[in-house]
Amino acid sequence: MPHSKIKSLLSTSPVSQEVTSKGWVRSNRTGKNVSFIALNDGSCLANLQIVADAQKFPKELLMSAQTGACISVTGKLVASTGSGQPVEIQADSIEILGASDPAVYPLQKKGHSLEFLREIAHLRFRTNTFGAVFRIRHSLAYAIHEFFHKRGFYYLHTPIITGSDCEGAGAMFRVTAMDLKNPLKTPNGDIDFAKDFFGKETYLTVSGQLEGELGALALSEIYTFGPTFRAENSNTTRHLSEFWMIEPEMAFYDLKDNMRLAEDFLKYLIQFVLDNNKEDLEFLNKMYDSTLIEKLRFVTQNNFRHLTYTEGMDIIQKSGKKFELQIQWGSDLQSEHERFLVEEHFKTPVILTDYPKDIKAFYMKQNEDGKTVRAMDILFPGIGEIIGGSQREENYEKLVNRIREMKIDEKNLGWYLDTRRFGTCVHSGFGLGFERLVLFATGMSNIRDVIPFPRAPKEAAF
Ligand code: ATP
Ligand code: MN
Repeated sequence: MPHSKIKSLLSTSPVSQEVTSKGWVRSNRTGKNVSFIALNDGSCLANLQIVADAQKFPKELLMSAQTGACISVTGKLVASTGSGQPVEIQADSIEILGASDPAVYPLQKKGHSLEFLREIAHLRFRTNTFGAVFRIRHSLAYAIHEFFHKRGFYYLHTPIITGSDCEGAGAMFRVTAMDLKNPLKTPNGDIDFAKDFFGKETYLTVSGQLEGELGALALSEIYTFGPTFRAENSNTTRHLSEFWMIEPEMAFYDLKDNMRLAEDFLKYLIQFVLDNNKEDLEFLNKMYDSTLIEKLRFVTQNNFRHLTYTEGMDIIQKSGKKFELQIQWGSDLQSEHERFLVEEHFKTPVILTDYPKDIKAFYMKQNEDGKTVRAMDILFPGIGEIIGGSQREENYEKLVNRIREMKIDEKNLGWYLDTRRFGTCVHSGFGLGFERLVLFATGMSNIRDVIPFPRAPKEAAF
């Protein structure tokens, strides 16, 4: 008999029909006459109650359907007499699909710290918290494709292994097939990458943007959604070494169009979760952040505040607030400054634009003032920067000059510069860090808790 997901059973009207449910036992209260088994299959937060009459089943069977075991139950779906659940299954047969010894099963009913659960990340999916987080993560991923598809954007797969070391977003992991104990050398003793797998130096990508631009200058509007890698030693609660990024690139968009798209996009995604993950959000709101749902609603209902970097810096400096790092015009904002603007000063998400060119990448559109570029960062409460983007420099000469000024090796960038030689146009794009979005949408506080298997400095178990 095909089995039903618990989510669908819980919303089925019970007329004693025969159903089968499969899942993992969360708890088992076996008394003299009856056993109550709480079963969860991850389809939703709630467990399904299984009632097993002690007369019908051997004691050993009931005792082995313990916390952690995987079982299949067939029986009648009836209205539950107990409070707390609409329906329950009165079991006619129970099969142990996979036994589990509760004495050594690491997950106990009492609840565990997030730190402990990180050490057993292979099992933490089986907790209410991680079930909720990963269902929301799924919803967001789905909504991202839906949003772009509805607007006629094409999903473009950009490479994960890249030959360009100047994507402009930080330190890279090297990719090689060489024998590291015995690398091939050139006559003057350097490692001979020409003899390596790809015949050149290669890395894991830090961004799909440059390739994305090539797509946009032909397909008009594209987006990427893939893994990116940064070999930076930033051990914070908002940085991972491997994270997923969504990068739309749009022909004929200037910075204003770009900002509007990004704001609509974030609001759409958050509204999607509010509409589709109510039960999970209520759980996370209760357990981790009592302002979560309020914060999500706030973002969907209020306009983001727009101001320039220069105006933002002015506010930061005049605030008189003691920051860990005092900054001035020209410095990059740290998350403490970003969060001050969002959480204390404006109390709403902020889009900062027109950053000093020296703290931004070479491809950003240069402003007439010669000092700033048409960049935009979106800053969110509790997170700081969630999106970084810009209008791109479409002028060939200006772009090449900037590349030279920044001493970037232009011979690896010929393919990119070709877009500016053959049919260039105004275009823009941005990158949304997927895990930062999931962090915001779940109210979790450590980015390691919103990706199934976190990769961070000294952290690559599983
Ligand atoms: P930050 O200043 O916070 O380190 P960044 O300026 O290096 O970020 P970008 O290169 O602009 O980031 O990347 C685009 C987006 O990717 C960021 O807005 C952020 O949401 C996300 N992001 C960047 N670095 C990381 C990381 N190490 N882990 C998770 N997400 C990240
Ligand atoms: Mn950035």
